[in-house]
Amino acid sequence: MKFKLFILTVLVGSLYTSCKSTGSSNMAHTDHSSDTYDSTFQVAAQEFADLKVLRYQVPGFNQLPLNQKLLAYYLSQAALSGRDIIYDQFSRNGLTIRKTIEAIYSTYTGDKTTDDWKKFEVYCGRVWFSNGNHHHYGKQKFFPEISTEYFDQLVKSSDAKKLPLASGEDVNSFLARIKPILFDPKIEPKLVDLSPNIDNVKASSVNFYQDVNQQDVENFYSKFDSKGHAPMWGLNSQLVKKNGKVEERVWKLGGMYSPAIEKIIYWLEKAVTVAENPQQKKTLELLIQYYKTGDLHTFDDYSIAWINDTSSRVDAVNGFIEVYEDPIGRKATFESVVSIKDLEATKRIAAIAKEAQWFEDHSPLMPEHKKKNVKGIIAKAITVVMEAGATAPSGPIGINLPNNEWIRKEHGSKSVSLSNIIHSYNVDGATSGMLDEFGVNDEVKARIKKYGNLTSDLHTDMHEAIGHASGQINPGVETTDKTLKNYASTLEEARADLVALYYMIDQKLVDIGVLPNVDAGKAEYDSYMMNGLMTQLVRIEPGHDLEEAHMRNRQLVAKWAYEKGKADNVVEFVKKNGKTYVRINDYNKLRELFGQLLREIQRVKSEGDYEAGKNLVENYGVKVDPVLHKEVLDRYKKLNIKPYKGFIQPRYVPVMDGDKIIDVKVEYPDNFFAQMLEYGEKYSFLPLNN
Ligand code: ZN
Repeated sequence: MKFKLFILTVLVGSLYTSCKSTGSSNMAHTDHSSDTYDSTFQVAAQEFADLKVLRYQVPGFNQLPLNQKLLAYYLSQAALSGRDIIYDQFSRNGLTIRKTIEAIYSTYTGDKTTDDWKKFEVYCGRVWFSNGNHHHYGKQKFFPEISTEYFDQLVKSSDAKKLPLASGEDVNSFLARIKPILFDPKIEPKLVDLSPNIDNVKASSVNFYQDVNQQDVENFYSKFDSKGHAPMWGLNSQLVKKNGKVEERVWKLGGMYSPAIEKIIYWLEKAVTVAENPQQKKTLELLIQYYKTGDLHTFDDYSIAWINDTSSRVDAVNGFIEVYEDPIGRKATFESVVSIKDLEATKRIAAIAKEAQWFEDHSPLMPEHKKKNVKGIIAKAITVVMEAGATAPSGPIGINLPNNEWIRKEHGSKSVSLSNIIHSYNVDGATSGMLDEFGVNDEVKARIKKYGNLTSDLHTDMHEAIGHASGQINPGVETTDKTLKNYASTLEEARADLVALYYMIDQKLVDIGVLPNVDAGKAEYDSYMMNGLMTQLVRIEPGHDLEEAHMRNRQLVAKWAYEKGKADNVVEFVKKNGKTYVRINDYNKLRELFGQLLREIQRVKSEGDYEAGKNLVENYGVKVDPVLHKEVLDRYKKLNIKPYKGFIQPRYVPVMDGDKIIDVKVEYPDNFFAQMLEYGEKYSFLPLNN
């Protein structure tokens, strides 16, 4: 299960509504239109390979009381203290690789203007961006695009004292050891290999397992009781075979990764002294206890305490959290996200959730499918202060934790959207040229430029707060995973989108103060139809159909409305200079069509009508017109947009009066490479061989 969604490309505003594919309550996707952001702030920083590095602001930080600033600062230091761990988790050679490029990048005395040097620089950037030499998204190994002879020269003209030499090793033997690690395609070819019918543990180079095969792992964990209130066994350890015996090396104080964990504990203990309230204090203390003992029951206790800490302004995820990088989904990578609650955006979502009954009563659903007592879901928005480990440099836009299923069932979960990260994506996306290329006319473009970010966020707020919460299943009908099966999540996402779209141009939104005027809502109609009918196809390979639930649901909604409105010319494809555009001719009729489809999809869900649901998805949500697809891809390619994005982190600097911290200042560095060197200097705690 995924609780984090990663942005591949943001096209116009935020086209990525992120949801757990199982539907239900979810992460929101929020951004302010408030003036807390400095509009002159430079978001784009650097580009190399297929990557673009952005910056983000932390509005609200300067206004925090000193204790909360200190708390955020200490938690940020705790976050960065675990940075080494992710490099070692991704490969047993990870720290050696990083220290090698750090040494060369900072001490090479040769010519730094040559093409070769620039190619090496790109390689450094890629390693830092991916926390290792495997692509952060594709997981395959990448290589320096330089000759091994040039690499020899780089190493020999760099400071040998900075190189990660083994004890007694000279530079020549070091070169003989490091070059295959960097250049040989047969060594650690894939970080995670999920191919069928192979030993996925053996085939994946991720450092969660040593000298064990998949069967060893399965045998080892089969003896753990995983029923009832069981922890996620194996989450925080490496599994190794020693003298024929399989055993865990637990990531804890005195265990594996101890030098980094010691520092994490040090900063967490400081954080405890400035905790905002007893619940947060208890939460942090449990986290410390867990790092000290490695006891996964304590981690569960911590997770429950963390869910119940809802009133604190400052919050943090810190630990071994997500299992995406384990081919068999058991071991977790280190990550941390430190944040402050985004009060403005959270208020807006609450304003919508508060009116949930009004929205339900006025919706186009059949009366018997309406909830008599609907409760809006209050999602939260956070402002990120620091990201580290698996969430940096490339991180999520929404987080839903904890992952342990029984805790989610009995205690719930925290679901947040990362406002300031999304804001940066939006600002950068606005310069991508996508809107200029695909927007049908100046009026539409101007409206999206003016209101697009706001309405896209409003769409997500409604999708989360009232969309998933709406409607009821007929008595005696089973849950949709049983009735609608593989079409359940696409239809559920379509239903939530349609609730949002139906109300997007409703006076009610103006009345409750979340939309400036009804006309502004049209920006979302234009974006949605353009995306659903055309621009989202940039993410599909030629010849492929739509697979992913959100993409299917968006095409289903857009194409159904287009087809059904054809007789009245509600939406049409227009051609200008050989290029295709989507134009909405009648916004009110389009709203009616959204209402009709919402009513039908709710009926399908309420009655569990599998055949009808299947037909909707298969007829409207799956197939791609190859001619239009090719045109979209060709036009997109010309825009030269980097598909993957990540972030430079802010820096927090304590202001001292004697030995007392009297303030914490936030700085925004603008050089990714310099930050990576700085981190290498300051947060390098692990030895080369862990
Ligand atoms: Zn959703």
